[in-house]
Amino acid sequence: MLGRMQDWPLTVDRILDHAKAWHGDREIVTRSVEGPIVRTTYAEVHKRAKRISNALRAMGIQPGDRVATLAWNSARHLEAWYGIMGIGAVCHTLNPRLFSEQLIYIINHAEDQVIFTDLTFAPLLAQIREHIPTVKHFVVLTDEAHLTDQLPGAVAYESLVAGHSDDCVWGGFDENTPAGLCYTSGTTGNPKGVLYTHRSNFLHTLVTASADVLGIGGRDIILPIVPMFHANAWGIAFSAPAVGAKLVMPGPKLDGASVHELIEAEGVTFSAAVPTVWQMLLAHLRQTGGKLTTLKRVAIGGSAVPEAIVRGFRDEYGVDVTHAWGMTETSPLGTIASPSYKVAEMDEETQLSFKLKQGRPPLGIDLRLVDDQEKLLPHDGETFGRLKVKGPFVVGQYFKGDGGEILDSEGFFDTGDVATIDEYGYMQITDRAKDVIKSGGEWISSIEIENIAAGHPKAELAAVIGVAHPKWDERPLLLVKLRPGESGTKEEFLKFLDGKIAKWWTPDDVVFVDDIPLGATGKIDKKILRQRMSDYVLPTAG
Ligand code: ADP
Repeated sequence: MLGRMQDWPLTVDRILDHAKAWHGDREIVTRSVEGPIVRTTYAEVHKRAKRISNALRAMGIQPGDRVATLAWNSARHLEAWYGIMGIGAVCHTLNPRLFSEQLIYIINHAEDQVIFTDLTFAPLLAQIREHIPTVKHFVVLTDEAHLTDQLPGAVAYESLVAGHSDDCVWGGFDENTPAGLCYTSGTTGNPKGVLYTHRSNFLHTLVTASADVLGIGGRDIILPIVPMFHANAWGIAFSAPAVGAKLVMPGPKLDGASVHELIEAEGVTFSAAVPTVWQMLLAHLRQTGGKLTTLKRVAIGGSAVPEAIVRGFRDEYGVDVTHAWGMTETSPLGTIASPSYKVAEMDEETQLSFKLKQGRPPLGIDLRLVDDQEKLLPHDGETFGRLKVKGPFVVGQYFKGDGGEILDSEGFFDTGDVATIDEYGYMQITDRAKDVIKSGGEWISSIEIENIAAGHPKAELAAVIGVAHPKWDERPLLLVKLRPGESGTKEEFLKFLDGKIAKWWTPDDVVFVDDIPLGATGKIDKKILRQRMSDYVLPTAG
């Protein structure tokens, strides 16, 4: 027997339909690539997205075809997204921070037929265009007046919008139709594509908007600094229109001064970004004496949030930090460190220690911790294990079946992260499986040490890697990039760590470096660091 409720496929075009119908006058403000601040509304975005759908159909785009975007967060980018997804085509978000060879690989693998690009990236595409033969059309997200000849043959977005009608039917397909495609940055092997469905995005939207997750609503003014090309801006390009929040799109300018200016000018109440962005904002505020008069909460994820950021926001600016964990493969939200009812009863300092963990799973994420024999591990906050996830917005298979079968016999996906889970259900990432330091058969968390070291007042960035050791297999090495004009000693950094980590976790050496490389999604690139340090021998190794 089946139930008797309506069949209403969960497709994302309905999100923008809803925003148009019930929040049609709510604003979307963009710092445009051309310079000025531009304003539009959900009603307007809806209309123009439909025009883009018609333009794509005129180009011959069929359901299932891949259409890429290489663009900053902007209202035009949002229109292109919904225009693509509304007709059942797949919106493939390209990350401009990737190396050209990776971009070429990804575009060819996805067989993108059209690329919507910002002016910023036109030269980059011109350089690689002969290597991406599947791409038949380039659309530059600008108007005729600003179109340059950097990408010959490209058309101006505004001409497409002007040249097509907004009469277009969206949806009407199965909710399991693919909607979006996003490649993991491929720190090991080739990048792999995660092919989201309308249903997975829709469910992720409902879950992430809820109170204990992002907790956003129609009265919020949201600044997604996390790019739409990085795991769907953590779903905000769906959840903001779903709840009718005002959206503030930062365009290309993500430095502290530009972000601050937007927050204050537009009255932003909630924002989301990786830790490095917040470090830049806090540094800017401290230098200029700036204030945050409207911002209430920020979500931080992508890499572990350093304690100094949580304290800085809380004590100096009265802003609450919510720490989240996830990955491209989980749409991306996996856990969030909102206070449970028990944690909420604890004193502020104890609560802070839970904020630094990656948190608890929302409905829709099954989480488990296992050892190498797949045995379930205790939730004691100490036992390290492999973190596995399962759920309706977790990857089932990579695009085109790359990597083969990726789920275990019970349908769980191995995240490649190593974690603990405590008695309150708070998960804490201790490392990526490939970065964990194995010393004398025990595991040392590189992330924990580097986060503490990064809190040293002289440190701008800190990274910890495992280095070969004849007796212990591997020992930790701390690499520090000092703030401009500072000088430091090994002793003062080791003293700073003393008492904050187990004695045997103390790095065997501290090396000061000019640069700590960050990957395309803002995380420390340990592969490059290990290559750079390949000739290095620990002083304790003799
Ligand atoms: P990649 O950067 O490898 O393409 P993602 O952007 O999907 O992949 O990043 C996912 C990974 O980022 C996670 O598996 C985890 O290792 C790391 N990560 C994400 N959020 C956090 C966090 N809050 N704390 C620590 N690590 C995190």
